[in-house]
Amino acid sequence: PGAALAAAPAPYLVVDQVSKSFGTFRALERASLTVGAGEFVSFLGPSGCGKTTLLRAIAGLDPATSGRIVQDGRDITGLPPSARDFGIVFQSYALFPNLNVSENIAYGLRGKAWPRSRRQQRVAELLTLVGLADQATKYPAQLSGGQQQRVALARALANEPGLLLLDEPLSALDAIVRLHLRQEIRALQRRLGVTTVMVTHDQEEAMGVSDRVVVMSRGRIEQIGTPEAIYRHPATAFVAGFVGRSSHFDAVVDATPGMLRAEGLVLPCPATRGLLFGTQVSTYIRPEDVRLGPQAQALPGHFVAQVTHVEFLGPICRVSLEAGRLRLEADVHPSLVPAVGSDVMAALPEDRLLVFPQDV
Ligand code: ATP
Repeated sequence: PGAALAAAPAPYLVVDQVSKSFGTFRALERASLTVGAGEFVSFLGPSGCGKTTLLRAIAGLDPATSGRIVQDGRDITGLPPSARDFGIVFQSYALFPNLNVSENIAYGLRGKAWPRSRRQQRVAELLTLVGLADQATKYPAQLSGGQQQRVALARALANEPGLLLLDEPLSALDAIVRLHLRQEIRALQRRLGVTTVMVTHDQEEAMGVSDRVVVMSRGRIEQIGTPEAIYRHPATAFVAGFVGRSSHFDAVVDATPGMLRAEGLVLPCPATRGLLFGTQVSTYIRPEDVRLGPQAQALPGHFVAQVTHVEFLGPICRVSLEAGRLRLEADVHPSLVPAVGSDVMAALPEDRLLVFPQDV
């Protein structure tokens, strides 16, 4: 009471029940979402799930088969790309090889009847914005992949679009450049306040830079939420398995309320209280949530598991375990790693089990 809640940004982009068919194939099935003004939203999902199709529908490059798209209060569904207000960056840098950096960026201003001096001034601003002030006269072939992508970004931002669309802008770059550029893009996006939608199949990238993530699978939106909400409270089994690391096993709701049976174990799981005895559920648990040793012993439902494999990952070690047919991964501090082949006590904290009733 009395505490001010952070107000949600006003909706800037509304995607309403958008579907897209290619012949008889449904690439998008009634996708709906809202992007707030100044928000950074990512579309995340496996290859072929429809991320790019949705982005291209928003741009008007591949118009939707049905549904409605509203940008800044204006219904843009039927408009060609040229009549929409966006800048776009593609995975392939898509620069003109015969134009230098300044000329490539100036291409983004082609719609403006500006005098030469004003155009030059804007290009200079954009060069500074993306950190390429000293590369203005170079040609694309003389630039690194990361630099080329910064030129593409400057070109996309040249007209001060209301909406920035990024289609896997980093996936052609090597890991270090990629990380660096994604942070730069995010900082720039914040500074300019431009509403941004990015397509990526890299979950770390999506989670790392986005205000909210839209997780997609097979043409459908599975969940929309903050990175933390997606990770901590996955809405579907697909999201639980796709985002972050998790161990998965099938289980059955026990006759005793709040208990789950899996592979001969009886596990406390209050989340199953609303489910009927005998309901089959898919169960997921994150490796950092699995408890071992004395910590496990203190929890109800602990069991003995055998260590089958250990991977050193720097700050933690990932321990593979088997208890009967149950296979689990547990993250432990490197100083506490049990020996491969040894038996350890393990437990799955009841509030950390993610359970999803299986479709019958
Ligand atoms: P990726 O990460 O591989 O690019 P994506 O999630 O972006 O995947 P889309 O490019 O949106 O996937 O494609 C979704 C589905 O639609 C895929 O099965 C793809 O084969 C199909 N598809 C896309 N474009 C066309 C097209 N022009 N004609 C026919 N099918 C298409």
